[in-house]
Amino acid sequence: MKGYIQVYTGDGKGKTTAAIGLVIRAVGAGKNVFFAQFMKGKASSEIKALKLLGDAVTIRRYGRENFIFSSPGKEDIRIAAEGLREVKKNIISGTYDVVILDEANVAVYYNLFTVPDLLDVIDSRPGNVELVITGRNAAPEIIAKADLVTEMREVKHYFSKGVKARKGIEL
Ligand code: ATP
Ligand code: MG
Repeated sequence: MKGYIQVYTGDGKGKTTAAIGLVIRAVGAGKNVFFAQFMKGKASSEIKALKLLGDAVTIRRYGRENFIFSSPGKEDIRIAAEGLREVKKNIISGTYDVVILDEANVAVYYNLFTVPDLLDVIDSRPGNVELVITGRNAAPEIIAKADLVTEMREVKHYFSKGVKARKGIEL
């Protein structure tokens, strides 16, 4: 089956949730999934839940505990860049039907790796691999490359009322 490139971007809620929903559906169909998450290093409920799916999902996280507020440090860049190299190896391996790069757009936005780096990984994939890239501020070149782009647009978000991320709902 031919694989396509999907992008979930925009400032509204639902990008990572959409990616996790796709993982669930793929596993239900007997597919093998590689779930890579950039930026995030803190424990999160979605990772705990994905672990319950066992061998069907390989989980890798390439982020640190600390949130990057303005500019990333050397260590952030090293972790993300090495992560992307590992992702590429795994995509090429042919083991996975679906590959998720959660928050990869944000990693590009913060210059942890470049648009050409990400395009190189996209281009390296075997034709059957479905590649899902999430994160706000997707680069125009990534949008141009994708076959499916959904922009989550914030109509309302309680974040603006000061409601921080809640366990089991946002993390
Ligand atoms: P979800 O994981 O619930 O599907 P998402 O992947 O679409 O959401 P991200 O852009 O990854 O959302 O946001 C991560 C977190 O940033 C959110 O859980 C929220 O707590 C916080 N957030 C939401 N809106 C804003 C905003 N406008 N500015 C900064 N942070 C926000
Ligand atoms: Mg997200």
